[in-house]
This record gives sequence, structure tokens and C-alpha cells, in this order.
Amino acid sequence: MHDVFCNSPPRAWAEINLAALKQNLGVARAASGCAVMAVVKAGAYGHGLEEVTKALATENIAFFGVANVGEARRIREAGVATRLYLLGATWAGEREEIVACDWTPCLSSLDEAAHFNRLAMASNKRLAVHLAVDTGMGRGGFLQDHLPEMMAALERMPHLEIEGIGSHLPAADEDDAFTRGQIARFRAILDELGGPERFKWRHLLNSAGLLAHDHGVCNLARPGLMLYGVSPMPGYQDKLSTVMTLKSRVTLVRTLPAGHGVSYGRQFVTTRPTRVATIGIGYGDGYPRHLSGKGADVCIHGRRCAILGRVTMDQIMVDVTRADDVMEGDEVEMFGPNIPVAEIAQKADTIAWDVLTGITPRVIRCY
Ligand SMILES: *Cc1c(COP(=O)(O)O)cnc(C)c1O
Repeated sequence: MHDVFCNSPPRAWAEINLAALKQNLGVARAASGCAVMAVVKAGAYGHGLEEVTKALATENIAFFGVANVGEARRIREAGVATRLYLLGATWAGEREEIVACDWTPCLSSLDEAAHFNRLAMASNKRLAVHLAVDTGMGRGGFLQDHLPEMMAALERMPHLEIEGIGSHLPAADEDDAFTRGQIARFRAILDELGGPERFKWRHLLNSAGLLAHDHGVCNLARPGLMLYGVSPMPGYQDKLSTVMTLKSRVTLVRTLPAGHGVSYGRQFVTTRPTRVATIGIGYGDGYPRHLSGKGADVCIHGRRCAILGRVTMDQIMVDVTRADDVMEGDEVEMFGPNIPVAEIAQKADTIAWDVLTGITPRVIRCY
């Protein structure tokens, strides 16, 4: 039986270019000179966890970086065998599954480590773990004081194998001097703990870090955003290829007279007869409501058209007075090659990470 609704094309969809994703991976590799942990948390930044990890699984990825065990499970269920690394601290309820599945946690405390050690002992195995060190992020990791004693305590846990060490950069796209200092501190920490060779994997750099800084003592990089074709700093955008293009369709075109309000709150009122196209996407799809009244554009037939009034849940209105060939059913680019997602993020007073991960499941992902 054919369900007639399955044949109705979506109103809002995201075209995802997996070839561009692989090109951006190549850029990350070349720029960092390191092996790659591809960061795929939050459904691969909204691009689809299963599809992205399947596409990258053949690309010699050392680890996929995930946020939680639910994401790790989904990657395994998709048949991807690449090692999985949990980017943040784990809480007790997640640890049994992590040990059972041989996923790789990073440790921020001796309590966490002791729990993993007990669980690994109970399953008669040795779990590979990474030591997280807080060099400035303030979110997780061991603080820098007493690190040698902590390391010694960890080494007394026979069911843990400390195979890596990592830290995170909070300001690699905003504060060069601080970031340079952090990279130097990371190096000093490694020396204090017995030298870089003591750790098989040494990692510090996110997208901004690897684009703008030397890898130094690191041999593993953790790019996220840049894989998805967006540079944290505008200067490197030309090296990257667009991965996601968010699209919708014109559902209605009308000419409103002068003095007619458009959308909730009547924040916009026409000052002249205005040809208005209604488009089938809104904040219910993750298109940011904060774009209301911010002068954001969409792209129709290669031309920019201004959004009028507030973004509503399922629809927005744009001015097509000067694009008089626009008709019902026409495709609209919300962001992509013509409207950079970074521009949308800036106008919505947020960051590209937030816009990409905010695209809701109602938007069909097409590969
Ligand atoms: C999200 C995350 C990254 C990736 O950061 P981007 O800025 O997207 O490249 C790297 N490391 C950790 C620990 C993260 O949480």
C-alpha cells in the first residue's frame, strides 16, 4: 500500500552534501597534521548522526567524539565500528554501558576513575581511558595542581589503561594570547607527567584551535564545526565547503496594499504595495525566531529577499516585490551557499553551532 502522504514533498528540508563533509575532513587533517577525532555530538551538529558517521567511517577516523551514551549506542546500531570517545564527564548511571561496550571516557576525578576501575574489574577487562585536564575551560577535567599525584593514583588502578590526555580551548576563536598560553601549559603538563610519549593520544585542538594554531605536542585533533563547512573565524571560511543547505518552498504569493501589517505583533507594516511570499518554514523547524526584524534574507532564484515581520512557528513572509517571477512552489534557500549560516547566526544573536543543532526533526535530511 502506498501512503499518499509519503508522496507529498516536504515543506522544509536540509540537503546534506557528504562529499563536502569529506573534503572538510581533508582540510582539518592537512591544517592540523594530526589524526582526527571527528566530533559528531548533537546528531553530528544536526546533520544526522548515523549518516555522517557511516560516511566518515571509511575515512580513517581515530575516534568519533560524542556527548553521551545514547549517541554512542546509535552509532553502534548503525553498524559503525570506529572507536567512540565521550567528550564530557560521565555520570554514574552511564558507566556500566561504557565499560560493557568499550567506549572511551575522559576522566575528571579520582572517584569517577575508581568507579570505572571497579566496573572494568567486574567484567574482567582493562578499559582504555583518557585523562582530561582543565587548562582554562572550567567545565571538566583534573585541575592542574597535584596532577603528578593524581596520575600516580590512576596508575595504581589496574583495570584502567591511561592511553590519552586531553584538554579543551574555551577561546581559540576569540583570544589568541590566552590560547597560546594554554597550548604552552598543555605542553608543560605533559612534560611534568613524564613526557609526551607517555600518552598514545594527546589532544587539545577544536576547529578554531587547529585552524589558527600549531599542533605542538598534540597528535590528535577534535574538529567539529569545520567538518560541517563552517569556520569559527571568517578568515578561514574560503577553505571549507558548504555541507548543509536548508530549504523550503513558497506556499503563497499575494500583493498587500500599503499600510498592511505582516505577522504577529504587526512589527512590520507595508509602506507601499508589497508583493509578499509566504514560505513553509518557521521556528518549529529550528529557523531562529530571533531573526524577526533583524534584516535577514532568504534566497529565491539566486536573489536575496528580505524577511518581513516576525518568524512564526511554521511560516515566514518575505518581500518579493522586486523578484516578480517568484511563484507558489518555488524553492527557497534559508541558508547554504548563498546565505552563509554564519550570517544567519550573527543576525539571530547566536553562533552557527546553535543554528545547526537547532534544526528540528521535522526538517527532512536529504543526502
Ligand atoms: C564540541 C567539542 C569539540 C569540537 O568543537 P568545534 O569548535 O565545533 O570544532 C572539541 N572538543 C570538545 C571537548 C568538544 O566538546
